Amino acid sequence: MTANNVTALAAASEPRFISYAVRDEVAWIMLERPESSNAQNYRLLNELDDMFKRAVEDDGVKAIVLGGRGKHFSAGHDLGTPEKDLHMPRERKLLWYSHVDREGAEGQYVLEQDAYLGFCRRWQEIPKPMIAMVQGACIAGGLMLAWVCDMIVASEDAFFQDPVVRMGVPGVEYFAHAFELPPRIAREFLLLGERMPAQRAYQFGMVNRIFPRETLEAEVEKIAVELAKRPRFGMALTKQAINHVEEVRGKRSTMDAVFHMHHLAHAHNQLVTGDLVGGMGAKEMASANKAQAAQKP
Ligand code: ZN
Repeated sequence: MTANNVTALAAASEPRFISYAVRDEVAWIMLERPESSNAQNYRLLNELDDMFKRAVEDDGVKAIVLGGRGKHFSAGHDLGTPEKDLHMPRERKLLWYSHVDREGAEGQYVLEQDAYLGFCRRWQEIPKPMIAMVQGACIAGGLMLAWVCDMIVASEDAFFQDPVVRMGVPGVEYFAHAFELPPRIAREFLLLGERMPAQRAYQFGMVNRIFPRETLEAEVEKIAVELAKRPRFGMALTKQAINHVEEVRGKRSTMDAVFHMHHLAHAHNQLVTGDLVGGMGAKEMASANKAQAAQKP
C-alpha cells in the first residue's frame, strides 16, 4: 500500500482537525486546532473539503456555518506547527499530480493549485448558503476560508489581515482582496499588511454583521436557521447568480494572473534565500505582526 492510499483511507474515517455537527438543518463545521490558532495544514484542508461534501450531499442540511474553535478563527496556513505536513503525500481532490519530490517551482505550484486555489474556487461554488463565523484573528489563509462563504459574521474583537507581502509575495493565493475591498483599501491592506478591525471591515462591506463574542454563536445560529427555511434550489441559483457577477467582473482571470505572480515570488524567494517564504516562518511573522500592532495607537 502506498502512502497515498493510506491518506485516502484516513480521509474516509472521522476527521481529526475538523468537527461536524448538524442541528436544526444547519451543518456546523468547525476547525479544531485551537492550540495552533486553527492553522491550516493540508490534512485539515482535505478534511474540510470532505465535510463540505458531506454537508452538500445531506438533504437534511440547508445551510452551513464555518467556524474555528478557540480564541481565533484561523491564523492562516500552517507555517511551522509540529503537524505541518508540506512534505507529506496527500490525496488530491482535483486532477493535479502529487507535489512530493518535485524539483524547482513545480511541487509548490501543483500543491497550491489543488489545495489553495482549487479548493477555494470549489468551495465558493457550494450550492448551499454558508456563513463564516469569525472571532479573533482571521489572517492570510484564514481570509481565504472566510471569503468563500456567502456571509461573514464577526465578533467585535475580530480582525482581518494579509501580511504576506513581508514574505515577498503579492497576497494569499486566492486573490479576492480587490473584490472584497475597494481597490484603494485593498492596496493599503496588502502593502501595509496591518490588522483591519471588524468594524472597519464592516464599513467596506467585507463583514455583514458584528456581535459581541459572547453572543456571536447564538446570533449566527439565528441567521443560519433563517437561511435554512428558504427553498434549496432558489438559494443555489442565487449563489450562482452572484458568483456569475463576480466572474463577469474578472475574478477568475484576476486570480489566475495573480496566482502566477505569487509563484514567481515563491520561486524568486527560493533562488535568493533558498526558502519559499524568504525565511519568514511562523515565528518571524508573528513577531513582526505583534511589533506592528503595538505601534498602533
Ligand atoms: Zn503560496
